[in-house]
Amino acid sequence: MYILVLNSGSSSLKYQLFDFSGSEKKVLAKGLVEQIGEEIGKISHSSGQEKQVIEMAISDHQVGLSKVVELLCDGEQAIITNREMVEVIGHRVVHGGDRFAAPTIITDEVLQVISECSYLAPLHNPANITGIKVACELFPKAKQVGVFDTAFHQSLPDYAYLYAIPYELYSEHKIRRYGFHGTSHLYVAKKAAEFLSTPLKDLNMITLHIGNGASAACIKQGQSVDTSMGLTPLEGLVMGTRSGDMDPALIEFIATLKNISVQEVGNLLNKKSGLKGICGDNDLRAIWKRVDQGDELARKAIELYAYRIRKYVGSYMAVLGRVDAIIFTAGVGENDARTRELVLSGMENLNIHCDSAKNSAHETDFSTQGIPLLTIATNEELEIAEQSFSLL
Ligand code: ADP
Repeated sequence: MYILVLNSGSSSLKYQLFDFSGSEKKVLAKGLVEQIGEEIGKISHSSGQEKQVIEMAISDHQVGLSKVVELLCDGEQAIITNREMVEVIGHRVVHGGDRFAAPTIITDEVLQVISECSYLAPLHNPANITGIKVACELFPKAKQVGVFDTAFHQSLPDYAYLYAIPYELYSEHKIRRYGFHGTSHLYVAKKAAEFLSTPLKDLNMITLHIGNGASAACIKQGQSVDTSMGLTPLEGLVMGTRSGDMDPALIEFIATLKNISVQEVGNLLNKKSGLKGICGDNDLRAIWKRVDQGDELARKAIELYAYRIRKYVGSYMAVLGRVDAIIFTAGVGENDARTRELVLSGMENLNIHCDSAKNSAHETDFSTQGIPLLTIATNEELEIAEQSFSLL
């Protein structure tokens, strides 16, 4: 049983081919198609130890995915002998609005609903739809499954998902908090449950997906009951280039002060803020280097970043009452022991005790006592493949 996972962006396409036939689930190949629509595009493809980079004109997703099909199924060095062996294609879909709480087999009607959700994610959903349509053409016999970033958070109670703005904006226009990174939060929560040898439904956890984009999830008895991102991924934690939470009056204030449009303020908050906005860098490795050299702006940026995460951990502890684990994942969460320690510092009274040596060694549980503090590598593609597989 071969499963292909696709994550289509407006000018890119990530893919991973899994073999689910044995007891062990194997990744056979993966890659990234970039600069779709530009004069010269690039495909970085790897299979086992072999890696190759192909530069060619990739005018659209159809051309890009056709080349991927050649690399995976049809060409001379193909990994499997024909494309009909791919039985399932799992698509990452960013926004499912309040219409999808679980993976869903894609039909014309489902595609229509995803399209209706596009106004909520105008940069992402249209690209996801393009990827799905091209995959349907190239793999007409495969089952196409949509796995939604928002799905895991559909269990939020209304008091957690509503904004305190005129109710009509919710009832008429579905303006509410949705949350993202759901596939990742669910995956690491399941892995934590395995590690703790306890069923997921019996666990209360706080999961911290901290990469360039970042979000926290508050998980009660295995279900998401709150999360830090909102209608869009801008809300919540301080991120690489996004502001996260702030006074909403700043939008009008900055637009007036700088004589720029609301759209330009949106761009400033999404792309020029966060760590980058404060200190000019958004990679934690560069920021820590600067901190060690005595750079004050870098210190301010990292402290603000860690402080915001700590506040979310504290508030979710209040929501949950009993917390069975705090989980760190994604680029920063998995690799950056110093940031983990900074986030958790001074929380001993809340039963949070970080063991510096275990943390530096990236041990799965790096607590000395009290609440287990876990580092778990996320794998959104595998989760998409598993959820797609589970539908068959
Ligand atoms: P994305 O949100 O783009 O998927 P990732 O989860 O891959 O992001 O995280 C990327 C970020 O992780 C980088 O910008 C960097 O800040 C951080 N990162 C990656 N590796 C390390 C490391 N070894 N030490 C510290 N930070 C790291």
